[in-house]
Amino acid sequence: MTLTKVDLTHLRRCVDLAREALEDGDEPFGSVLVDARGQVLFEDRNRIKDGDHTRHPEFEIARWAAAHVAPDERVTTTVYTSGEHCPMCSAAHAWVGLGRIIYAASSAQLVGWKSEWGIAAGPVAALPINHVAPDVPTVGPVAEFEAELKELHRRSSVAR
Ligand SMILES: [Zn+2]
Repeated sequence: MTLTKVDLTHLRRCVDLAREALEDGDEPFGSVLVDARGQVLFEDRNRIKDGDHTRHPEFEIARWAAAHVAPDERVTTTVYTSGEHCPMCSAAHAWVGLGRIIYAASSAQLVGWKSEWGIAAGPVAALPINHVAPDVPTVGPVAEFEAELKELHRRSSVAR
């Protein structure tokens, strides 16, 4: 499927949030929750530097939506994110009943980059979203953000 200019604008914001996270000592991931009318409802970025490795923006979005978005509206939302949801976040997204996910970089790309740089895999398998949440519509990866995200993740990896 083809992404619209609006989709690319939201993804751009996710990548900017990822950069902000990296510059603040966190990992370079950012995400935005958008309603059916295109309004940004909530945005966040990775905040794991103080030791809580569940503080992913996609998880925060799911919990925020559970508290603030009516169940029948959740399925009409779109979550844009700089990196594909991990299994924890895919599960949270599906349990809360959110809609489509558009991601800039895939988990498979991230795994490939890390192995290229000799970085060990994390403690959670890098399963694609649809292996965890089979009914969530997904779009990604988006080639135009690849080089920029790869560079942010390279900087993050060498910093650790
Ligand atoms: Zn996650």
